[in-house]
Amino acid sequence: MINVTKSFLPDQAEYNAILKLSWDKAWVTNRGELVKQLEEKIKTKFKITNIIATTNGTLPLQIAIKALDLKGEIITTPFSYIATSSCIAWESCTPVFADIEVDTFNIDPLQIEAKINDKTTAIIATHVFGNPCNIDAIAQLAKKYNIKVIYDAAHAFGVTYKDNSIFEYGEVSTCSFHATKIFHTGEGGALFTKDNALNDKLYYHHNFGHDGPEHFHGIGINAKMSEFQAAMGLTVLPYFDKIIARRELLYRLYYDLLKENEDLQFQKILDNTVYNYAYFPLVFKSEEQLHKVKNALNENQIFPRRYFYPSLNTIPYLKGELMEISESISKRILCLPLYYDLTEEEVKHITQIVKKQI
Ligand SMILES: *Cc1c(COP(=O)(O)O)cnc(C)c1O
Repeated sequence: MINVTKSFLPDQAEYNAILKLSWDKAWVTNRGELVKQLEEKIKTKFKITNIIATTNGTLPLQIAIKALDLKGEIITTPFSYIATSSCIAWESCTPVFADIEVDTFNIDPLQIEAKINDKTTAIIATHVFGNPCNIDAIAQLAKKYNIKVIYDAAHAFGVTYKDNSIFEYGEVSTCSFHATKIFHTGEGGALFTKDNALNDKLYYHHNFGHDGPEHFHGIGINAKMSEFQAAMGLTVLPYFDKIIARRELLYRLYYDLLKENEDLQFQKILDNTVYNYAYFPLVFKSEEQLHKVKNALNENQIFPRRYFYPSLNTIPYLKGELMEISESISKRILCLPLYYDLTEEEVKHITQIVKKQI
């Protein structure tokens, strides 16, 4: 069976050897040694100003909204995972959708500007499949209208834009280290900001607001990463460059084998980007064609994923307006299997099945 993804797991002995430090001290959470080590290693590797490791990639979005004290309307993308929108509603703000660009699948700055009014306080944009948003145009809008920018960079671990880590953009960036993501800690995530004062606020919020064992700086929640999660991250991180190189090879092979077909559309990656090959999305001519391909792959025990589907504006509790491009792409997009252990033969086999159906 071939699934859309498979978690990268080194030899279990490597995980055990790293975890031993916390195990021997019987200190398994609350900002243990391994969490601090993981933060330092990520910070150094990607030249990042600040990082706070968290227990998943959803709480950081909620914490960012809280720390920036956002109210009213937040403009966001309909083409993302549900967490990008639900965090807005969860924090009692109103998600307002702006449609995406047809070639990059990222939120369109022109559509954002059309939705800005005096209730708008922020933009939450996703770097879809690790492809950076139009960061420069979004920064200009934020400045012009005095609103904040949060990037959901859940897919973008390892990506750089104009020689900076993608996490250095926006007031706050968040990442997910979920088992299905390109770098993982089982469950996990992180908060990033270049603003040291804001980093302090985010830090308090992620640890109940604790300011010492008996004092509280303000309201908080529990989003701490555990030592078990950090041990997983420290086990996987040394392999990260190898993981990317392998994925790049498989991604290019998929592309070469499929690029001649005029029915298929590929994601356009922004210029000045070092990409991480997090996904291999493929857009078909019609939803009917997608179903044909998906069924044929499923019959061969191959399970791509409709991702992202459905378009978030169609989810009843989010009460979105019609988003033509996002709805159209959502109905026609499949992410093909892409992971470290996938073989070149399997990629060839998958593309043969795809090509037979279109
Ligand atoms: C995975 C994902 C999240 C949520 O991350 P978790 O770690 O699963 O909580 C948020 N946004 C996007 C775009 C994601 O893909």
